[in-house]
Amino acid sequence: MSSWLNRVAAGYRMDLCDLLEHDLGHGPVDDLDTAPLLSLLTVLSQRSGIELERLRGMSLAGWVPWLLDSLDDRIPAALETYAFQFSVLLPRRNRKTRSITRWRAWLPSQPIQRACPVCLSDPADQPLLLAWKLPLMLSCPLHGCWLESYWGMPGRFLGWKNADAAPRTANAAIAAMDRRTWQALTTEYVALPRRRVHAGLWFRLLRTLLDELNTPLSHCGSCSASIRHVWECCGHPLRAGQSLWRPYEILAPAVQLQMLEAAATAIALIESNGVSPHGEQAALFLMEPQTGFINDLPVKERKAQPVDHWREAAKALKEAIAEARHNRETARALFALASHGRRDPESLGRLRVTFSQEGVPPEFLSHYVPNGPFAFLSMNDGLSDKF
Ligand SMILES: [Zn+2]
Repeated sequence: MSSWLNRVAAGYRMDLCDLLEHDLGHGPVDDLDTAPLLSLLTVLSQRSGIELERLRGMSLAGWVPWLLDSLDDRIPAALETYAFQFSVLLPRRNRKTRSITRWRAWLPSQPIQRACPVCLSDPADQPLLLAWKLPLMLSCPLHGCWLESYWGMPGRFLGWKNADAAPRTANAAIAAMDRRTWQALTTEYVALPRRRVHAGLWFRLLRTLLDELNTPLSHCGSCSASIRHVWECCGHPLRAGQSLWRPYEILAPAVQLQMLEAAATAIALIESNGVSPHGEQAALFLMEPQTGFINDLPVKERKAQPVDHWREAAKALKEAIAEARHNRETARALFALASHGRRDPESLGRLRVTFSQEGVPPEFLSHYVPNGPFAFLSMNDGLSDKF
């Protein structure tokens, strides 16, 4: 909201304060991006023709209850409810209950000034996304480069803290995590390998993972090797150098970024079987159902069981016979397969008896003469009717 109104004011060569005070009849509003007054939104909607709901989505209030449960920071057990009811890397029993008096998900205690250098490359139009103000993403979902720290006020004057740096491409793990977060923010859903999940679940899974990666190893039991492995792979010190536990939101911005990088690494490792997750929701990141874990060794180091094709075929045959008992098409397909090589009426007659003994109704096969072993392949186009 502040970015949009700043750009509107700049279009009229006004200050934001003047636009708010003289044109919109409001004094300076310092929480434009958190929860702007309904009276201001109503005036804005009338002047701009943009629906109220869309204007609400320009502030964090419009992201309740998906991104966060509430903007009220005095709700008891808010952290427990948000970040500890799910589990990804660690089993829930390993989690220590944490309670703090005032807490809101994702809202940093220190302001964050990061932006995409490519998005801001046009001096005539420099939008700042609301999501960039939160420790939620590391890269620009549109350009795939790191969000960089800036100073000044985009649209008026802007400088990059790392002045010489060209846009840095984010690695695949970071880009993948941020694409999902962007999908959650813009489409309400996130496509995970197992299934599509609601945006609200995605944000809670991500926040859960961030806390798991900040768990003291002494509380991680047999999973401590996995946590250590994630941090080693992302190249930052364990727990981003933290020794005391504090909620993610009040960590220093540089620490938050390392935590996010570890979360991206953890997801990539889970999806490539580089770590064995023990949390209940970890299965969402895996393509195939997993039935328990033997130990902390990466799955790829275990020998895959060879497929027993005969056992699979026998199972399929059993299922086909069961279906043939009440499905004429299946009965005929199975009969065609079983009668491979038999032409004489006597032999086919014996086979009919066998089918009948298996519970397949004889009328399904009466007058039916198979066309060959794979006659069933053409049965759906009506050719079988001529028999
Ligand atoms: Zn960008």
